[in-house]
Amino acid sequence: MALAVLKFKGKNRNQFNLLAFSTLFSFLIAGCSSIKLKTFEYPDPVDTNSREISYQDKKTYSINDAVFADNQFDGARLNDFTQVNDSTFQVTILPENEPINKSPHYAFRIWSSQPQTLYVQLNYPTTKHRYVPKLSTDGEHWKPIDSMNYQLIDSAKNALLRLNVENKKLWVSAQELKTSVEASNWSKQIANHKDVRFKTIGKSKLKRDLVGLDIYNGNPENKELIVILSRQHPPEVSGYLAMQSFVEEILKENRLQKDFRTNYRILVFPLLNPDGVDLGHWRHNAGGIDLNRDWAYYRQEEIKTIVNFIVNTAKASKNKVILGLDFHSTQEDLYYSFSDDMHSEIYPFKDYWMGAIDDALPNYTPDDQPFPLSQPISKGWFFKQFNAESLTYEIGDETPRDFIKLKAQVAAREMMKLLILR
Ligand SMILES: [Zn+2]
Repeated sequence: MALAVLKFKGKNRNQFNLLAFSTLFSFLIAGCSSIKLKTFEYPDPVDTNSREISYQDKKTYSINDAVFADNQFDGARLNDFTQVNDSTFQVTILPENEPINKSPHYAFRIWSSQPQTLYVQLNYPTTKHRYVPKLSTDGEHWKPIDSMNYQLIDSAKNALLRLNVENKKLWVSAQELKTSVEASNWSKQIANHKDVRFKTIGKSKLKRDLVGLDIYNGNPENKELIVILSRQHPPEVSGYLAMQSFVEEILKENRLQKDFRTNYRILVFPLLNPDGVDLGHWRHNAGGIDLNRDWAYYRQEEIKTIVNFIVNTAKASKNKVILGLDFHSTQEDLYYSFSDDMHSEIYPFKDYWMGAIDDALPNYTPDDQPFPLSQPISKGWFFKQFNAESLTYEIGDETPRDFIKLKAQVAAREMMKLLILR
């Protein structure tokens, strides 16, 4: 790729020395080396050998044949359902194993023989409530519970919901349910685009498909490669929604997008942890492990499969991996980036990118949170394996869904502009 001319149009980026940026690019890219999957040491290593998980008892709970709750669907998490008094019921939510991150996912259906208003306590014996309940009558269309019908109790450890129930199942979930079937359907629909190839790249521990999307126009050889990851952590649906909008933006038929797909190759892995998602896990895969701590020795099937696929793909087509984006969710929107001493192949791309997103969204300032590599997470792997830039793209649990989409579209466009004008 021609790198002699570097232009960043239309934005004020005078805080950087463009000439130095360009020279550095050219110098580094000239030094392509052969690709081989390596293992890595980190200051805070994590034992990612499989650990036991407990499975939920999948069943319908019946209280006096009048009030019912169940967890018999993918993504469900309901460990017990009991009656407290005439109108109040208790839902117990437990993790797949411990220790575990405080991301207590729940999802269940509730109904009654007669229409009535019930109170439901969400009870967390091992942690505290986090996610605002989302309600649905069909498992597909969701909206957050009305704040009038929702309060924190027990010093914010648990939550109390007021629900109108009837003889039709009401879905109550920590986040919109996005199961492995949804991810697969979305991926197949995306793959109707002529520049997208749908690939089943392997299987999870419990033999669910690991899906990849391979995006480019023309010949894949020698294109630089961008990798997009999502859903290592099952409840992180807001990050997954951002990933979907980000990818959809790349596939639009405008000049920018077409040029980008002609010049770059993009590998998308929409759902890295299908077992954890379908089992309603809080954090881990079916091996009981946080997959985003397994990017040093690849002991879990899902990570082993994906890193091998990325490395082999890049090797076969002489692609240089320059950027890895990993979509997650946390309390609020932010970007976990590299600390300033880490200079990737495309340094200082991140600073330009954050600046461009900032300029394009007047009421939003990107929260850039650089931090050093201490644990074996995907962000570090891209840097250590390929000297690629990488960011963890974090979306708040309750960030308005229309803003998630808008910001992802803007972020995708600004990324494409910056990379294409290099
Ligand atoms: Zn995460």
